[in-house]
Amino acid sequence: MKKTACAIIVNGGAGGLNFPERRRNGLVKAASIGYSILKQGGSSLDAVERTSMLLEDTTVFNAGTGSYLNLVGEVEMDASIMTDKMEFGAVAAMKNVRYPISVARLVMEKTDHLLLCGQGATKFARIMGIKPYNPETKEKRRLWQRKKSNIKHSYFPKLKEIADSYGTIGVVAIDQNGLISVANSTGGISLNMPGRVGDTPVIGGGVYADKHGGVTATGHGEEIMRHLLSFRAVCFMSSYRARIAGKMAIDYATKYGCRCGLVGLDKKGGILCANNTRAMSWCYIKNGRMRVFK
Ligand code: ASP
Repeated sequence: MKKTACAIIVNGGAGGLNFPERRRNGLVKAASIGYSILKQGGSSLDAVERTSMLLEDTTVFNAGTGSYLNLVGEVEMDASIMTDKMEFGAVAAMKNVRYPISVARLVMEKTDHLLLCGQGATKFARIMGIKPYNPETKEKRRLWQRKKSNIKHSYFPKLKEIADSYGTIGVVAIDQNGLISVANSTGGISLNMPGRVGDTPVIGGGVYADKHGGVTATGHGEEIMRHLLSFRAVCFMSSYRARIAGKMAIDYATKYGCRCGLVGLDKKGGILCANNTRAMSWCYIKNGRMRVFK
């Protein structure tokens, strides 16, 4: 059987480019490891999980270690993983694990469910042998203290007014057998209410894949979810090339006031990379050639 040319694309959030060097290094390293898994004949599912784990460990991003803190100063994380065979698993508002993406994959592979949340998700992780881990960093605790002292509202800050630093990570890959997989992971939006769940673990919102392609989103989760942006972008891929599909999805998002970024791949390895925010950090490797945000 003819082999598909493999490709991988990653993003580190659409909320601007503070610490560009740290972002670039993290994305380049993670994408390179994901790509080497694909080149060695590995599955895109393994590639997106491994790549996401590296990004979850890279503290500049808002996922895993280095996640933003919520309104009461706790880390709650969302993650999901999906293949173009409609396999899907997700976790939401989960505490105290190092790699939320791996727990999402376990939900997909070891349960009959699609999404586990809160204590149930953490309990499931423990049953699966995943050890307790505190993902909080001093850097994000200081950021939380600064932001918290600036908000006027007592409990329910308007996310649109304060959210400017989207740093969710997302990965899409296509392997030599043509399988497309997508993963994303986040600590949510800084100062969101405890228990809030964004687009990241919502099928069609923060992530989607089918035989036409795969897409993952970053940005204002409530709006991404409302408009099912990843699903919409993949639907556009059924009729248009990835680049055009991305433009159409972003134009749609802009029209409805949804600030976001999208990355994806179509079934031919065509690249989708678009945002309507100040800037998005991204990196992709295709045909052995890497491109990274400037
Ligand atoms: N989309 C994420 C959320 O709303 C935030 C981000 O992209 O950084 O939870």
